[in-house]
Amino acid sequence: MNILVLGSGGREHALCWKLAQSAAVAEQGGTLYVSPGNPGMAECAQLVSLDAGDHDAVIGFAKEHDIGLVVIGPEAPLVDGLADSLSAAGIPTFGPGKEAAQLEGSKAFTKEMCDRAGIPTAGYVRCTSLEQARQALSTFAPPFVLKADGLAAGKGVVIADSIDHAEEALEDMFGGKFGAAGAEVVIEEFMAGEEASFFAITDGETVVPFGTAQDHKRVGDGDTGPNTGGMGAYSPARVLTDELVAETLERIIFPTVRQMRKDRHAYQGVLYAGLMLTDEGVKLVEYNARFGDPECQVLMMRLQSDLADYMLACAKGTLGDMPEPEFSDDTAMTVVMCAKGYPGTPEKGGAIHLGHAEATGAKVFHAGTKLEGDQLVANGGRVLNVTALGKDTKAARDAAYAAVSAVEFPSGFYRSDIGWRELERG
Ligand code: ATP
Repeated sequence: MNILVLGSGGREHALCWKLAQSAAVAEQGGTLYVSPGNPGMAECAQLVSLDAGDHDAVIGFAKEHDIGLVVIGPEAPLVDGLADSLSAAGIPTFGPGKEAAQLEGSKAFTKEMCDRAGIPTAGYVRCTSLEQARQALSTFAPPFVLKADGLAAGKGVVIADSIDHAEEALEDMFGGKFGAAGAEVVIEEFMAGEEASFFAITDGETVVPFGTAQDHKRVGDGDTGPNTGGMGAYSPARVLTDELVAETLERIIFPTVRQMRKDRHAYQGVLYAGLMLTDEGVKLVEYNARFGDPECQVLMMRLQSDLADYMLACAKGTLGDMPEPEFSDDTAMTVVMCAKGYPGTPEKGGAIHLGHAEATGAKVFHAGTKLEGDQLVANGGRVLNVTALGKDTKAARDAAYAAVSAVEFPSGFYRSDIGWRELERG
């Protein structure tokens, strides 16, 4: 079976790496294509150039190349309805349709779905004007959680300690700082606790847990500095004990999949729940309609089952016929190497030499790289995701950082404390 992956980051490199090991590609001679991909993916997939916004072009390519499965990596094409177009053309596609992807595309949509399904999450008010939002603020206590409703690449959330800071942020949001994403703002109750990520795949009916992870959003050691797309992650997140996983499935994931079906936009693909472990139990912070980046990298490192089989079963509605997927009991850790300046303006063009980074079994997933002649250079904020497995968090950390040390990237930087919370727990 031929497979087409859409995307260009570390997440898609990890998906390609795993899909290339699937029997469909590795044993049955299928071809794995990726668009647009990056130089790292050239080792395991054929790079092609398609405009994901041009649905007819993607369908045309899929038909011409006899694609049996399309995997949509990032959220934007999902929210744009690419999965609907492909499915309507009879091409099995892993990922939710436009309506179902609103679980990520609109915070207000998700909050209202939670209300209908009785899912534990923070109390909230939807506001469509600055005036209304200012008034609503008085009904909340600090810290104030303000969210631009739509997709804002992880930057549309402000946690304000004071009313002045909150009002300033609201003015920015309604003033157009996040474009259309800020036309509506959701104000939420602050939830105190530790965050963890839970993943499940579903065909709209059957739900299969697909691993847990924790990431590090802040740019600096000790979780300091501005937020980023993620500076590192590890899996499993042991803070999510078996009991908490069961609670998450029963109180959050199953009711979501049931409610989405009831609302006539059944959800198919990966459901990534951002969770807060509060004193009152597990609560939903947010949903994402795709794998996390860099969480995907650590999940793929631990996955032992055939990824293509599971994705195809989701696309075809046959997940109920599949056995439980297998994951290694080992811990996987990924350290994100960034270009200096990130998350502000990253320095582009810095030379990278991977050296013997992969010699000890670590895997270097490319996130923002390109080739200039034969020279690999930085081409984005997050550049490489150095990922390793170990028997426990410490072993995974040691292996990942040993591989990081082997990479020569003078204009890069990385956090030196990925996994600190887990290591402190012992
Ligand atoms: P991303 O796409 O980067 O995951 P996002 O823009 O979709 O983020 P959220 O995940 O909803 O936004 O919020 C970002 C972060 O803000 C969360 O990871 C969490 O740390 C914090 N946060 C969000 N909502 C709350 C809340 N109600 N209480 C406490 N913290 C919150």
